[in-house]
Amino acid sequence: MANAASSINVLVVDDQDCLVELLADIVNGLGFGSEMAHDGLEAIEKFDEGNFQMVITDIKMPRMDGIELMKRIKENRPDVPVIAITGYGSESTEEELLYDGVDGFLEKPFRVAKIEGIVCDVLRKYELLE
Ligand SMILES: [Mg+2]
Repeated sequence: MANAASSINVLVVDDQDCLVELLADIVNGLGFGSEMAHDGLEAIEKFDEGNFQMVITDIKMPRMDGIELMKRIKENRPDVPVIAITGYGSESTEEELLYDGVDGFLEKPFRVAKIEGIVCDVLRKYELLE
């Protein structure tokens, strides 16, 4: 069932404050709701308490990294797409991340138009957006 953009809530996770705020702003600018978390543990707590239709997560973070976060989410909620933030300094290749179950990539440095395309494509694939 496709939803209106306003009913989609995205959990944005990155240990860099400025980055997670920028991404949340971009997500809001697309008409979606957003919440922020700064590492995998905080993210899994927020995810369990909230109602999220998508997760966008950095890979390298303290306490719990993005791969572990994604695996925990997919274990219980395979219906929730997870997009990985990649770029300079990424330890995992995109091939490895796809194998782990990632649905898409946002490459740093960010380009707003590209983020919009990738986020909306993945939501449509899951029939969360028309
Ligand atoms: Mg990081």
